[in-house]
Parts: sequence; structure tokens; C-alpha cells
Amino acid sequence: MTHLKKENSYSQYGMATKSIHAGGAPDPVTGSIMPAIHQTSTFVQSAPGEHLGYEYSRSHNPTRTRLEECLAAIESADYALATSSGMSITTLIMHMLPVGSNVICGDDVYGGTNRLFNKVFQNIHHFSFVDTTQLNLVEEIIKSKKPKLFWLETPTNPMLKISDVQKIAALCKAHDCLLCVDNTFMSPYFQRPLTLGADIVMHSITKYINGHSDVVGGCLMTNRKDLYEKLWFLQNATGPSQSPFDSWLVLRGLKTLSVRMERHAQNAQKIAEMLAKHTKIEKVYYPGLPEHPGHEIAKKQMSGFGGMITFVVKGGLTPAKQVLSKVKLFSLAESLGGVESLIEHPAIMTHASVPADQRAKLGISDGLLRISVGIEDVEDLIKDLDNALS
Ligand SMILES: *Cc1c(COP(=O)(O)O)cnc(C)c1O
Repeated sequence: MTHLKKENSYSQYGMATKSIHAGGAPDPVTGSIMPAIHQTSTFVQSAPGEHLGYEYSRSHNPTRTRLEECLAAIESADYALATSSGMSITTLIMHMLPVGSNVICGDDVYGGTNRLFNKVFQNIHHFSFVDTTQLNLVEEIIKSKKPKLFWLETPTNPMLKISDVQKIAALCKAHDCLLCVDNTFMSPYFQRPLTLGADIVMHSITKYINGHSDVVGGCLMTNRKDLYEKLWFLQNATGPSQSPFDSWLVLRGLKTLSVRMERHAQNAQKIAEMLAKHTKIEKVYYPGLPEHPGHEIAKKQMSGFGGMITFVVKGGLTPAKQVLSKVKLFSLAESLGGVESLIEHPAIMTHASVPADQRAKLGISDGLLRISVGIEDVEDLIKDLDNALS
């Protein structure tokens, strides 16, 4: 049995309505307005093979089905799959490709994606990396490698480079190559790559989609039934299905996606403007600043600039470490997208798995810090950073 969504029945509604109502219908048996947590491994059958649509929770679970309905609706997709981590989604997509496929990947992607491609799947597929902001380079590499899949992250992590999804999708389409976009940094609230021509969108649910730093999870969305069926088969066969309890927590977190994202972006804009004027700061990367090289493309394909800011502290490692030790509201931690503000040092923390020479090439220097701006009072966050910098 598969849970195919024949049509996206929430398509007439706005994002805030979808994130609250899709998958959120009251329980038909009890009237409970909140979904039950179907914390069960198996389901009773009335006769062999006769059941109510659920057999075993690795294959399907009613709480996870509700989450998948909501995820599909907010990404404007027909199908969604929820798994136990973002990396397990990437793994499923790699398993879906024929052995020996050429895969093109952005040169500034999530550190774990880089590690998965270079240290786990490197003997199964052939990976090439390209600066996805340079469309001539993208076209050249697609023509020469004839890839089966293009892996795009925009904005990138941690440099927040913006790539033109629509133009890259057109190049992929012309050369029979699937486009998968890692949309984690924007969430479906600010960017919907399927509407720009992508074949698959994936997220680390751990970040903005759940938004409360209490779940690790991943998801993918697609309009292509053939891809959904292959990927669901692989999820069931290899086993990284999201648990009922975590699915329930994410459904809960999703209800506030729209208000959280608005506030993340408002706070981040103000903080980025403050940092850009600060005498102790060498450079600020935030797509909402007009001087950001991707600002115009960002305005075209995103409806907000998100909550992530990267900046370089003047003087390198020592003053950067000082900032990390002096902030009070920003917690020193990996991850992002929660209601609370986080700060981290990419070269030592999230991107330590990226080889040093590649880090240098990308600009991930020792003075570089990344913040995930939370939804606290922005005046408090600004004071905290200013104090740590002085
Ligand atoms: C965190 C993250 C991932 C990996 O997701 P997990 O849930 O940690 O497995 C992938 N891509 C991006 C952009 C991320 O931030």
C-alpha cells in the first residue's frame, strides 16, 4: 500500500493556513482536534492482508502520514516522505540513482552532504563540484558530464551564496538531468523550488520546519509519482522512516512556521544592517543586504531573506573566539533554525569535515562566524552581539 496524494487539495490556501490545516483534520473517531500519536510498531489485520491501510510503522504510520500531507502542501507538492534525518533523505536519493551516475554538486554545501558524497558514495557514483552562482560553469559541466542528478543548495551554507534555481532547472531539463534542491535554509515559507522547475526538494526538518531544536528529521517533496514510488520503496527497504512521536512534534512546530519565519527574517535584517556598520566587522554575508552579490536573484526567487547571517570578525581567530565566549543570548552550538539564537565557528565546527584547502577557496576563514538568528527581541540580540564585539 502506498499513500499517494492524487491532488494537493490545499492548493487554494495560503502558507499559514496550509501549515496549520494540512494533515491537521480532527480525529474522525474521537473528535480530538490535535492528531493522536500512533506510537505503535504494528497494526492488527482482520484477515491475512486485510487491514485499514497500515501494516507496520517502517512502511507507514498514521502520524507520519499526517506530517507528510502537511509537508507536501506547504512545498506545493503532490508527494512527501519524512525520514529520521536530512542525511537519510540524501542517502535515499543517492540509492535511487543507477550505480556509476555522474552527480554535480554545488561547491559550498552543507558539510555533511559534502562528507556523504566524498567519503561514503564516492565509489558508487562520480561527483563533481561547481560554483552554482556561475551559470556558464554550470552549463559547461552539465554538457561535459551528462549527469543524472544536480544537487543544488541555495542559499549556501555558510557563505549564503544565491543561485538562480529557474535557470539551473532549465539547463538540467534540457540535458535530461534531475534537479534536487536542498531548501533547508529558506523553508517552504520563503522559497518553493518545485515551482521554479526543480524535480525534488529536500529539507533537514531539524531546522526551520520543526523550529524548536527538539527533533532530528528530514523530508523530501516531489510532484513526480515515479520518483516518489522509488524513494518510498527505498525508505521502506532501507528503514530510515521518521518516528510517530517526532512526526507529531514536527506537526506541532509547523503550525507556527509562518510567524516564526517572518520574525527570523525581520530580526536578521536588523542584525545584518547593524553588523555591516560595525567597526570590528570585516564583512557581512546576508542576502537581504543590497550589496550582497545574490540580492537581486534572491528578491526574484525568495519571498524573504531568512534568518542566517555569516560575518568575518577583523583580526581572525582570536577575536572571533572572543566573540564566541562573550555572547550571552547566542548559544555556541551547531544546527540552526530554532526559536533561540545560535552562533558557531564553521571552520572548527560545522565545516571541519570540509578539507582545509577547499575551505580556504570558499572563504571559510578563521575569523568567520555564522549565526542563526532566533525570534527573541531583536534589541536584546543586537546588544548582546555589540557587547561581545567590543
Ligand atoms: C542540517 C542540514 C542538513 C542535514 O540534516 P540532518 O537533519 O542534520 O541530517 C542538510 N542540509 C542542510 C542545509 C542542513 O542545514
